[in-house]
Amino acid sequence: LVVLDGVNKWFGDLHVLQDINLTVTRGEVVVVIGPSGSGKSTLCRAINRLETIGNGTISIDGEPLPEEGKALARLRADVGMVFQAFNLFAHKTILENVTLGPIKVRKQKKADAEKRARELLERVGVAHQADKYPAQLSGGQQQRVAIARALAMEPKVMLFDEPTSALDPEMIKEVLDVMVDLAKGGMTMIVVTHEMGFARTAGDRVVFMSDGQIVEENTPEEFFTNPQSDRAKDFLGKIL
Ligand code: ATP
Ligand code: MG
Repeated sequence: LVVLDGVNKWFGDLHVLQDINLTVTRGEVVVVIGPSGSGKSTLCRAINRLETIGNGTISIDGEPLPEEGKALARLRADVGMVFQAFNLFAHKTILENVTLGPIKVRKQKKADAEKRARELLERVGVAHQADKYPAQLSGGQQQRVAIARALAMEPKVMLFDEPTSALDPEMIKEVLDVMVDLAKGGMTMIVVTHEMGFARTAGDRVVFMSDGQIVEENTPEEFFTNPQSDRAKDFLGKIL
């Protein structure tokens, strides 16, 4: 479903993505882990075309990423993205945050979009907050709204970039629970996280990045108990 083939990217002299080859099949949950600065966020942003790439190709569902215009807006709708910071529209209600994209990009009728939004807010456990503004919600609730907002676009794949790392510990679980639920429901997901519990419960594959390269790929079980490379051993030694 998502194919990266020989992807390279430079920021000036810095070679942040080095010949990345990655194929994510439909329904697969790929967990990306690695040290700070290894290129995980850049990888996610490239898949959503928030960053351009130097060379190589990225395709989604067989289609290469569009350059701009309407096709790009549709791509962004197909690729749901949830960031570390919740990035909700501060001056719109929770319900409006979730219905905006479907109405504008997917051309849904307002009533249909609202009905679907309420179902999604129910699913992530914040239905009763629909008429509030983001600042009136806890971090965990805002992040669950961000997930609902991405889902409202009926994405083909969901990207998560450290979705729980800005949250207080008691809120981490409520967000991870929603993500585990999504994974079990068959959503294709690429998740940057250091939450080993999530990786083990929901992950089909762990991709370990270091210095812009994919150094190791394995099942979560194998990766955590039996890392192959020195870089992965070193990294796991620091975080576990
Ligand atoms: P973290 O775990 O800290 O989030 P990461 O693995 O997500 O790290 P990236 O954010 O992808 O890492 O950054 C990879 C490298 O690219 C880093 O060295 C970073 O400083 C650099 N970088 C990221 N964005 C830019 C930019 N817009 N301009 C220049 N360099 C950048
Ligand atoms: Mg990052």
